[in-house]
Amino acid sequence: MSNQNFNDIQIGTKTVWAGEKEVLVHGASQVPVVVSVAYTYDDMDAWFDVAIGKRPGHIYGRNTNPTVQAFEDKVRVLENAEAATSFSTGMAAISNVLHTFLKPGDRVVTIKDTYGGTNKIFSEFLPKLNIEVTLCNTGNHEEMEAEIAKGCTIVYLETPTNPTVKITDIERMAKAGKAVGALVVVDNTFATPINQNPLQLGADLVLHSATKFLGGHADALGGVVCGSNELVEQIYHYREINGATMDPWAAYLLLRGMKTLKLRVEQQAKNAMAIAKYLEQHELVEQVFYPGLETHVHHDIAKKQMRGFGGMLSFSLKGGMDTVRVVLPKLKYANRAANLGAVETTYGPARTTSHVECTVEERKALGIPEGLVRLSAGIEDTEDLIADLEQAFQSLSQASLRS
Ligand SMILES: *Cc1c(COP(=O)(O)O)cnc(C)c1O
Repeated sequence: MSNQNFNDIQIGTKTVWAGEKEVLVHGASQVPVVVSVAYTYDDMDAWFDVAIGKRPGHIYGRNTNPTVQAFEDKVRVLENAEAATSFSTGMAAISNVLHTFLKPGDRVVTIKDTYGGTNKIFSEFLPKLNIEVTLCNTGNHEEMEAEIAKGCTIVYLETPTNPTVKITDIERMAKAGKAVGALVVVDNTFATPINQNPLQLGADLVLHSATKFLGGHADALGGVVCGSNELVEQIYHYREINGATMDPWAAYLLLRGMKTLKLRVEQQAKNAMAIAKYLEQHELVEQVFYPGLETHVHHDIAKKQMRGFGGMLSFSLKGGMDTVRVVLPKLKYANRAANLGAVETTYGPARTTSHVECTVEERKALGIPEGLVRLSAGIEDTEDLIADLEQAFQSLSQASLRS
């Protein structure tokens, strides 16, 4: 693992150059995809030394791989961390982190609005292991502080959340977690390291679904976690045995995608803000959720801890799902799909995507209207995305005039 921190350069330069140099071979300027499952040694003592970790090198692909290490090192530099380790998916990162540090009798304090899969771990799998999980109302900092103060092993945060982009004050919750000796973990998938660095706000671990913004092209799955050497070594040990290893081809695609991370995220945030403002004034729109809007409940916290407000927003339309059924298919420059963070603008109803596992009542309790649409802004030209929404809305008013 490289110790180079690139402290003297800006984050956009880091996305291009960090993590790659050590893996280059034969004068190539691009990272090779090393597909070898195992590594061969003529010297029995050298082999042994690598195997026991006394000298650097690779033994077996479930443990380490040069292409995967280049990916890990790039994310490590972007999150200003000592160490990073990676996984086959974002959910593998989340479940491996939780299982590394939790044992029966422990307690987790988290928010109600975590990603659907994460929420299933909290509501279904951890209780089976006799691990108590307390789900606080997202954005209610007093409630969360009171729950943390009762004692816990892990404080688990995700900010902004999916799909109503609620914000939690990371610095404040990290302080509360530290006071009771808890590990503070933050899912930084929606913000990306371009907009937010949770470790600098006091968190112990930051993790990502690399499938989303980091890769940015919706063509590779992956997960990654960053933190201190001491914590990441323990997570790595759990993962090397558990086997949720990142594939070297995925690592290559994610590395390639990350070189343009800053450019993409800036354009996505610009588009998201313009679309949010457009939607906010439209007569067909009921509600818009975007942390960059001054009307957002947590705009001040977002402004304090984020450098940009990100590419994710959501909105509900008058007439609920009946309107959504007509409007979404009319969009020309949109994927209607379950993913997010890609270069293409992507729309999806929350009840079909992030909250498909919930009942109507559960969605209502979470403040998610049935007709809520999640929008992941792509990197297209802003004017075209607005015009696309405009023509979709117009065809709806024409359709309703005819009927
Ligand atoms: C998608 C997502 C995950 C899960 O990542 P996968 O790569 O799909 O396993 C976790 N957290 C957030 C916020 C996500 O958007």
